[in-house]
Amino acid sequence: MTDQSRSLLERHDRLGDELGVELFLQRDDLLPFPLAGNKYRKLRAELAEERRGDVVLVTAGAIDSNHCRTLAFLAAARGQFVHLVLHGDSPPNTPALLMFDRLGARYDLVAPDAIGNQIQNLVTRYTIAGKPVRVVEGGCHTPSGAQAYRQIGAQVIAELQPDLVFVASGTGATQGGLTAAAIEADRPCRVAGISVARSGERGAESVREAATWVGGAPAAAAVTFLDQYRDGGYGKHSAATRSAVLRAWQHGLPLDTTYTGKAFRGMLDEIAAGAVAPGTRVLFWHTGGLWNALTDLSRHPRSASGNEMGQ
Ligand SMILES: *Cc1c(COP(=O)(O)O)cnc(C)c1O
Repeated sequence: MTDQSRSLLERHDRLGDELGVELFLQRDDLLPFPLAGNKYRKLRAELAEERRGDVVLVTAGAIDSNHCRTLAFLAAARGQFVHLVLHGDSPPNTPALLMFDRLGARYDLVAPDAIGNQIQNLVTRYTIAGKPVRVVEGGCHTPSGAQAYRQIGAQVIAELQPDLVFVASGTGATQGGLTAAAIEADRPCRVAGISVARSGERGAESVREAATWVGGAPAAAAVTFLDQYRDGGYGKHSAATRSAVLRAWQHGLPLDTTYTGKAFRGMLDEIAAGAVAPGTRVLFWHTGGLWNALTDLSRHPRSASGNEMGQ
């Protein structure tokens, strides 16, 4: 598979000038992989040691989860079998499910409170059938996943020497890895995670856990986890996030309302509020989410005014 260590850094002068900062982008949405994003780095690291060709990979996530989608792609490429435990409401012909079919992945749709049981059932069933099973943690919130981000984080931070990094934070493995890298950097660098789902202490604790897996336990002050842009939780979004996403697209930057749009809005707000000094070297870490953006676009057809997002 392709080399994922090459730099995906871009400078965005037009947007940087508007915001009064030196703005750079790390384009993990452009990794050489279908519908690329942070799950590719995390899952590739997670599966790197898995040599059993006949292993059944079992994991769970929402129907539109990038984790499940990326695992299905990787499994198909590696000739491994994947069985997904999915939750969420969706018609059977929704493209995300059709894509799993096409990739040869099996899936069960269950209620959120039945996920743990269903995973246990699958482990039992495949084990009885004589097949080795590997259960991959939801969202790939694993030491290997965090390690992948500590590694690329160290490389990018050394190359760019940013003062501040903004990144969407869900399970916290991505932010945890980047935070560990920032702590080890020669020059002070702060990583600000914008929560896409969890609130306050629970989210920050998960980031700290991931940073601890791959570095030392970080001081509380080393973890910046901003939960005021989560818009009520996973998959929900506000008008403010929507307009931040629109602004990004108008600058040639494809963002989505579930993940990257919240991070981008958080960055815009922090800069507008004066929390970021003019001229600061800011890195926006793009974590992917193009599929989510396309799903969102298909739900918000073009309005009569010609402006996709209306008003
Ligand atoms: C999963 C995901 C995240 C969150 O990553 P974590 O490591 O779980 O914090 C952010 N952005 C996108 C596009 C994702 O798919």
